[in-house]
Amino acid sequence: MKILRASHLGWCFGVRDAVRDATLAATSGPVTVLGELVHNPTVIESLRSRGVLTRSDPSDVPTRRVLITAHGASRRRIASLEAMGLEVTETTCPLVHRAHAALDTLVNQGCHPVIIGQAHHVEVRGLAEDHPGCDIVLTESEIDALEPRPLFGVVSQTTQPIDRVRHLVDCLKRRFPQSEVRFRDTVCQPTKDRQQAAENLARQCSVVVVVGGRHSNNTRQLSATCARGCARVHQVEGPDDLDPGWFKPDDIVGLTAGTSTPDETIEAVSGRLTYLAQEHCQQA
Ligand code: SF4
Repeated sequence: MKILRASHLGWCFGVRDAVRDATLAATSGPVTVLGELVHNPTVIESLRSRGVLTRSDPSDVPTRRVLITAHGASRRRIASLEAMGLEVTETTCPLVHRAHAALDTLVNQGCHPVIIGQAHHVEVRGLAEDHPGCDIVLTESEIDALEPRPLFGVVSQTTQPIDRVRHLVDCLKRRFPQSEVRFRDTVCQPTKDRQQAAENLARQCSVVVVVGGRHSNNTRQLSATCARGCARVHQVEGPDDLDPGWFKPDDIVGLTAGTSTPDETIEAVSGRLTYLAQEHCQQA
């Protein structure tokens, strides 16, 4: 059994900086993060042990200071938190800010705003809340159901696979040939790098292990990308989720991880895979 690592995997700079900022903030008193700082239970637990609380509902916040996650928030939401007397600090990734700015620019140009992404995702909600009436799409049928507009302005959730985004933009152009479609590519570079690396890895492997939180969108997207190149793909949150029955002695096992997966978790999974590989060697 041989183990190959993706050339790009794990934490992106946006998540790393958000975790650093939250940890620093907690050194000067209690602080609450609104929502999951990153979609990874190990990181959330580690932050909790350092005094960083997590709440989903602003009315439940027990501290004066609140942090906005790397996924960002709308101007509306930040204003309403401040109106509640909370001191708001953003750990929003600059590439999420860039997506907000791109959508604002398109709307200022007179475009009807369209976001390619998951409607329930906190980043997409943040983008949409400042542009009431915008459309959020993720499938061709949702594009087919849009109302015609003379000018569409399209951005995407930063963690969507760029191939899907480009395909949906093409669908929009075909669906409304009389309309002008202005597209700004807001998929972030770390997501593109990890997607490309996962695709390359999957082609070389007989089985792929994807490490990341179950609620992490980009980890799920990585699993889907790997599944297009490799028939056996397993998503795990940590080493204990690895089932020895998944692996055969002659397997080439690929290892990749989402942008919210910390280095320690990747190393722990890698260590267990190495142990399983040695066991297979001894049995052979
Ligand atoms: S996935 Fe991309 S947009 Fe999201 S935090 Fe990381 S670098 Fe920023």
